[in-house]
Amino acid sequence: MTASIIDGKAEAARLRLRLAGEVAALKAEYGVTPGLAVVLVGDNPASEVYVRNKAAQTREVGMESFEFRLPADLTESALLALVQQLNGRADVHGILVQLPLPPQISAEKVLDAIAPEKDVDGFHPMNAGLLAVGKPGLVPCTPLGCLIMAKGVHESLVGLDVVVVGRSNIVGRPAAQLFITESCTVTVAHSRTQDLPGECRRADILLVAVGRPNLVRGDWIKPGATVIDVGINRVPKEGGGSRLVGDVAFDEAVEIAGAITPVPGGVGPMTIACLLANNLTCARIALGLV
Ligand code: NAD
Repeated sequence: MTASIIDGKAEAARLRLRLAGEVAALKAEYGVTPGLAVVLVGDNPASEVYVRNKAAQTREVGMESFEFRLPADLTESALLALVQQLNGRADVHGILVQLPLPPQISAEKVLDAIAPEKDVDGFHPMNAGLLAVGKPGLVPCTPLGCLIMAKGVHESLVGLDVVVVGRSNIVGRPAAQLFITESCTVTVAHSRTQDLPGECRRADILLVAVGRPNLVRGDWIKPGATVIDVGINRVPKEGGGSRLVGDVAFDEAVEIAGAITPVPGGVGPMTIACLLANNLTCARIALGLV
């Protein structure tokens, strides 16, 4: 059996199209353009690429993008002051501080300073708590994208066995919470799990977010399962240069799984589209519509 490939780029394009319509409707009815502030500290080249992509797609769906590029030696108090200023701006609905931050700045302090209703990344403890108790809030973008893709494959998620590998606050943990809310039976595996292959083999939906190339082998996958590979790993390419791979041995998995996300072109594009969806939610919260 050869798995169907879940096309994250196409799925993300569909979501952006829908969002563009909703942004236009919000503008027409309330005269409000959702605004997203993106803050980049330092000159990490990968972060610069992310920020540029985010800004371009923000504009593409009709939202306003405010970008703040700040020097690597910025103080923590200066960044906290900027966050406070953005918290108070009516034209800024969502605030994203690009990680990683330089060592003199506590990411935790900065993320906690973002007003929960402008927390477009869904990392604030208030939003993490709302997710944990199954109440509406702002949900981290990558797990949200994974859920949308799983719903694209399965008519109903109710009762499915979902195994999430990785328990980070950014991906694994919130992904597990989302699938619990969808009435799945969720197992969370991590670096201390005793029988990782055995856990993975039980999964109807296997979501892997570890950051280790080819960790999950083809024979760890239940035939016909849906595999969502969140990992992004840069590995050397034969003949020089480098290429991106996920956490799942794709060539093996594609022969066993029912559906699988590729890397690149799977979860990555959906993450940015979900960021825009969250920013629209932030604008709706500001208008009292949510
Ligand atoms: P993290 O380092 O914060 O967490 C990794 C998790 O993997 C930990 O919970 C750890 O317990 C677990 N782990 C480590 N080694 C393991 C092992 N051998 N077996 C089982 N579990 C193990 O990473 P993260 O922020 O969650 O990111 C994970 C991966 O996803 C990275 O490759 C990252 O680049 C990628 N990522 C992609 C997107 C996207 O948009 N596609 C977004 C966020 C993260």
